[in-house]
Amino acid sequence: MSDVDNEILESIERWAERELKPIAKKFDHADEYPLEIVEQMKELGLFGATIDPEYGGLGLSASTYARIVMSIASIWMAPVGIFNSHLIMAACVQRHGTDDQKRRWLPKFASGELRGGIGLTEPNAGTDLQSIRTLARRDGDQYVINGTKTWITNGVYGTCFGVLVKTDPEAQPRHKGMSMFICEKGDGFQAAKKIRKLGYKSIDSAELVFENYRVSAEQLIGGIEGRGFQQAVGGLELGRINVAARGAGIAAGALRDALRYAQERSTFGKPIAQHQAIQLKLADMATRVEAARLLIEQAARKYDTGERCDLESSMAKLFASEAGVENSLEAMRIFGGYSYSTDFDVERYYRDAPLMCIGEGTNEMQRIIIAKQLVERNPL
Ligand SMILES: Cc1cc2nc3c(=O)[nH]c(=O)nc-3n(C[C@H](O)[C@H](O)[C@H](O)COP(=O)(O)OP(=O)(O)OC[C@H]3O[C@@H](n4cnc5c(N)ncnc54)[C@H](O)[C@@H]3O)c2cc1C
Repeated sequence: MSDVDNEILESIERWAERELKPIAKKFDHADEYPLEIVEQMKELGLFGATIDPEYGGLGLSASTYARIVMSIASIWMAPVGIFNSHLIMAACVQRHGTDDQKRRWLPKFASGELRGGIGLTEPNAGTDLQSIRTLARRDGDQYVINGTKTWITNGVYGTCFGVLVKTDPEAQPRHKGMSMFICEKGDGFQAAKKIRKLGYKSIDSAELVFENYRVSAEQLIGGIEGRGFQQAVGGLELGRINVAARGAGIAAGALRDALRYAQERSTFGKPIAQHQAIQLKLADMATRVEAARLLIEQAARKYDTGERCDLESSMAKLFASEAGVENSLEAMRIFGGYSYSTDFDVERYYRDAPLMCIGEGTNEMQRIIIAKQLVERNPL
């Protein structure tokens, strides 16, 4: 990491400690959107974290960005979703958009003037993305979109989304009939309902409905039909590194709180940290955090040097997200009855962690990707 990257990371760590820590519990329990935090994130440049400086972003590497995500998630994971999904949309335009599209959209994304996310999932299609039904029909120099997306992060408060559609529902193979558009909310495109969730509260996950929504053909990402599936899954390596960093952040937060509590709480005349049963848990938790961190660093380094990293990013995502789940559960056990109290943060880690096993490809799919890669890279 460069000195500048270090400074950015440290200033974000201080900000998270100062601004997020005191309010996380209250906003999470009220499931309230942190509007003031969004304004602060704009100031910090987080909406342009990975966007090229040419377009007003910070141009951070995946390695630095992952460390930022991990440090914020160790305090409160949910706000990461506000800029992370937004940056996946931006990355799609940056990697696959035409020069005109980059000039038009990226500066507004980088400043946070336009905020949003990525709309892939539909009620009938999550893992099997090629089954989506949202249809874009060409009409002169416009397309008319009809369909429903669900579970879309930033769906209520965001106004602009990268949306995956079918432009040719009969195409074989199916992915050749898929395209991605930049869609701004307006006539025919709105959020229909906010989804109520177990965790990852305060952040809006919503259903998006398109009813005869007209979008200019100039907003077809890359300007050519049939590339949407590759554009969507092409961002997944980076997306997986980011989800891994969120999982590792939760794992680290659970360890930090448990380590402190284990030294404060005494039973049978000594701090519980001196009971071997608790020591075993702390040791395993710390080892998971370090292993997750190293897997993430390895995947991010490969990504930054342009090397193929599907195996590495899947391993990082699988291990770090499971580490988040395991460490948050172990922290619950270490806190004993108090883990069940909403006065402590561990109950939030426990509710937030399982999402990391689902997002950016479920962990079942990560195992399948890893196994396929192992065979591909080690042929007989
Ligand atoms: C809080 C939250 C936020 C989200 N944000 C977004 C967002 O911003 N944008 C977006 O587009 N989506 C978003 N999603 C959707 C998420 O990406 C999907 O939920 C995820 O891809 C899984 O799809 P599904 O829920 O339809 O599960 P399904 O695809 O129905 O899978 C169900 C189960 O079957 C397993 N499975 C499926 N196929 C196979 C197979 N071939 N082999 C083995 N096992 C298989 C899965 O691993 C899983 O265990 C979000 C979801 C949540 C919960």
